Amino acid sequence: MRLKDRNCLVTGSNRGIGAGIALRLADEGANVALVYLEGDLEVESVATQIRHRGRTALVFRTDLRDPQALHAMMTQVIAEFGDLHLLVNNAGIGLFAPFLETSLEAWNDTINTNLRAAFLCSQIAARHMAERKFGRIVHITSTLSQVAAPNLAPYCASKAALAMLTKAMAAELGPLGIRVNAVGPGTIRTQLNAALLDTDEMEAREAALIPTRRIGHSDDIAAMVAFLASDEADQINGQNILVDGGLTALSPQPPYLNANK
Ligand code: NDP
Repeated sequence: MRLKDRNCLVTGSNRGIGAGIALRLADEGANVALVYLEGDLEVESVATQIRHRGRTALVFRTDLRDPQALHAMMTQVIAEFGDLHLLVNNAGIGLFAPFLETSLEAWNDTINTNLRAAFLCSQIAARHMAERKFGRIVHITSTLSQVAAPNLAPYCASKAALAMLTKAMAAELGPLGIRVNAVGPGTIRTQLNAALLDTDEMEAREAALIPTRRIGHSDDIAAMVAFLASDEADQINGQNILVDGGLTALSPQPPYLNANK
């Protein structure tokens, strides 16, 4: 119960990694505001599970690409909770297209969801947290904040920028009692990448690339977020911690070095 009575907001928390984070925070004693766009049934299920844990769950259907809607949601969360202690900017999209065919619309959608919304939510949250001299903000980045993948140029750019925003925010907000960190998932089985992990064979091929030899789970990410949000991580600030089983620690291996299967 490291987060007892802390009030948290997790964007994109009706499913996938965000739902895992929201439930883990509730397990640690926190109340959670859930923000989503389309998953009405899913968000109600997550909210019910949080309430069964004896915690408060608030639910907001908000398009985070819309700054006015985002502002209204943030204002209401802060008003209803009274205090906001933790913001997790998790909502994200990844639209696959070759760089030469990437449309302006795909670029804008990706940047506005993955980066601009995190900036705007953080600014509103941090103004509130600074008045209380207490706050934690965690951005969910990706291994693709540090290494690139083909057909995902706007996604890679948005995540790299989010990693740098983490450092810039940490530098300015640390003296105000607000710690800012990022968690970069490796491959986690969710709807975001369902097409890449469609069959057992595809999953086995993907897992073979990872030194821990397994695909990640939302719990792996949620555990790191809960730790960063807790007082145990009091001196950790401005970091982008990759939770990827060691995937990005490896350079591509030539076959003659590939003895350690
Ligand atoms: P999912 O696709 O499963 O979930 C995405 C979430 O974001 C959903 O809750 C969705 O809501 C929400 N969302 C998307 N657009 C908007 C919007 N405009 N307004 C409000 N909410 C929105 O993704 P994951 O759980 O896999 O990913 C979560 C985060 O982790 C993302 O930032 C992603 O980039 C990152 N990540 C994931 C990896 C993976 O392997 N899965 C790897 C590396 C990083 P709704 O369902 O209601 O539309």
